[in-house]
Amino acid sequence: MLTPRQLFLRHQAQTSDFPLLLEIERAEGVYMYDAEGQRYLDLISGIGVSNVGHRHPRVLQAIQDQLDKYLHLMVYGEVVQAPPAQLAEALHQTLPAHLDNVYFTNSGTEAVEGALKLAKRHTGRTGLLSSYNAYHGSTHGALSITGSEGFKNAFRPLLPEVRHFRHNHFEDLQLINEHTAAVVIETVQGEAGVRVPAPGYLPALRQRCTEVGALLILDEIQCGFGRTGTFWAFEQFGIEPDILLTAKGMGGGMPIGAFISSQEIMAGFKTNPILGHCTTFGGHPVSCAASLATLRVIQEENLLAGVADKAARFRRQLVHPAIREVRNWGLLMAVEFESFEVLKPIIDHALWQEHILTDWFLFCDNSLRIAPPLTITDAQIDEACTALLRSINS
Ligand code: PMP
Repeated sequence: MLTPRQLFLRHQAQTSDFPLLLEIERAEGVYMYDAEGQRYLDLISGIGVSNVGHRHPRVLQAIQDQLDKYLHLMVYGEVVQAPPAQLAEALHQTLPAHLDNVYFTNSGTEAVEGALKLAKRHTGRTGLLSSYNAYHGSTHGALSITGSEGFKNAFRPLLPEVRHFRHNHFEDLQLINEHTAAVVIETVQGEAGVRVPAPGYLPALRQRCTEVGALLILDEIQCGFGRTGTFWAFEQFGIEPDILLTAKGMGGGMPIGAFISSQEIMAGFKTNPILGHCTTFGGHPVSCAASLATLRVIQEENLLAGVADKAARFRRQLVHPAIREVRNWGLLMAVEFESFEVLKPIIDHALWQEHILTDWFLFCDNSLRIAPPLTITDAQIDEACTALLRSINS
């Protein structure tokens, strides 16, 4: 009999020649365990997913309750099912009044796809703008607006009329014009290595979009659902989007995403053509039940309140001559080293000697990713920092 590791390498599609090959048997809270019972501290939450920790009891209970009722019933938008309906209302309660309509997807990239179509439908325009070094997903539309030529070249032709602006360069906002259907931007850039908008930048971007009638789409797939210390990151920047994207942490470990807008804009999918956007599984009742429980955990366990102090605790301890800079917005953190060649052995040492799981960023390979569950305790932060400093010194 082949082991799961052998089967993984032989039969599961690989996305690089150097997979991590960590094999996990179970997970709980901030910890994951291998078959030998070795405990690993998860400092990256499955890339921004396990914001409430692995297998949060309230999320498990919500899943269990839904399992006892029904699984898939019918394609999106036909049959009334309580979990997506209640989740849509709960999401709306966290948002400005005009963001009252939710379209559920299965993933982040699908939320991007739906939002791009909606913006084109609503404005009757075709131009799309996004930032260099932005990551928005791997399907053709989301890839088109991803701001890395290296990632895109092998897959052209992609969507036409896509242009990129330089993040935080106010003068590039003039690229937004009367042909622009939508501007897509991560409120805080993730894969670019945690890049925070300069003071006044997002308001200026918002204003330019409004001036020319372009929709502003905020991608909070990585930075939303509490990661930055407010439920949505945009709350801290004095702007509101026309369309908001969420996924990842939204499901508490289950696959789900959404694009959220106003009833008026979303109505574009109902006519000319009808079924303007369809999905079989979007809004799956089990994922929606898990997501609603996740939202309630963040609210009722007061997870947002601890984010700033926890981030500060990391920052105080992550001081070392080899660390060039620490960038963070809440518990989305990047610890910068001189190069990937310096960073990679630190990540490997942290994983295999210290049993701490970290990573680098897609478009910033000299920076260590720290994005732990928001439930991480002070003692666990201290444990992680001490171990990371040992790895840096090794
Ligand atoms: N947008 C952002 C900002 C992301 O970080 C990601 C995933 N890393 C995506 C979109 C795509 O999400 P998914 O992998 O669920 O398709």
